[in-house]
This record gives sequence, structure tokens and C-alpha cells, in this order.
Amino acid sequence: MVLAPLHHPDPRLREKAKPVAKITPEIKALAQDMLHSMYHYKGIGLAATQLGIPHRVVVMDLDVTQDMKPVSPKVYINPEIVSASIETSKMEEGCLSVASCKDSFKYITGIVTRPLHIRMRYLDLDGNVQEEEDRDMLARCMQHEIDHLDGILFIDRLEPEDRKRLIAELGFDTV
Ligand SMILES: [Zn+2]
Repeated sequence: MVLAPLHHPDPRLREKAKPVAKITPEIKALAQDMLHSMYHYKGIGLAATQLGIPHRVVVMDLDVTQDMKPVSPKVYINPEIVSASIETSKMEEGCLSVASCKDSFKYITGIVTRPLHIRMRYLDLDGNVQEEEDRDMLARCMQHEIDHLDGILFIDRLEPEDRKRLIAELGFDTV
């Protein structure tokens, strides 16, 4: 099932998602719906919060083809950052939940500074604890998605000048 992402300023995007206590068939079905929705809406990552579902579940596929054919779909249950590098990077980010309210097909982008690498822990769909070192693009996307689970949007992390410009583009007051 394909579900449409909520758009800022929907208050559900600001809710803190709850940890998944048990991997049930419902959680597995949710993960599949999230993957379908992510590919359908041409994203490379999606958090359950973006669909108005307050569970700590993230899906991602950074290798997806240009015409959105799945290559390496990944599901992260209860993802958490264990440690982050002191070294940071600046990169342009966008989000399926942040579009101009003047034109909902125009996604807003902006430069965000984040740790370059992270070590993170999560549960896989079999309920096993996994730990991995995420570097560069994967580290960035993971931090963006975990932010969603905490009710944080990338526009909250912009430089003041960028934020002003984006508020004008978004067409309403934000953060
Ligand atoms: Zn996002």
C-alpha cells in the first residue's frame, strides 16, 4: 500500500515516535508499505513519522535506480546513534515532507551541517540487534531520518540566512 507523506507544517511531523516493542506482522507490513511509498514518491529514505505513524521505523535505499527501481531496500527498527564523528560536512538536503505550500511539487532544499560519520544501532526485521558504521551519504540520510523520529525537520538545522530565504519560499512562517 502506498501512503502519502505528510507535509510541513502538519503537527504530526513534530511528534516523537515510540520505540517498537516487538517485531509483529503489522510492523513488517508497515515496513513494506513504507518502502512502496518511498519509491512511489521518489525518495531515498522515509521515516514512519512522515506517514503519521508514530513508530521508530526508517526505510532507505541509497542505490535506487533513476527510475526508482529498488536496488538495496533497508529497514531500520528503533535506529539510534551510538557515536558521531567530530568531523562535520555541509550538504544540501531535501525532504518529501518539506515542499513549498505555493507549489506542493516543488521540494525545498537547504544546506545542513552534520557529523560526517556515525556509528548506529538498530533492530532488523528478525528482531536481531545490528550495529553499523555509516559514512558520508548513508550517515547523512540516517541522521535526517532519525531526526524525523524525534520530530525534527532539516529546516530546523539551517543557517539563519538560509532559513529566512526558505521561509519566504515556503510561503508561511516556520520554526
Ligand atoms: Zn525528510
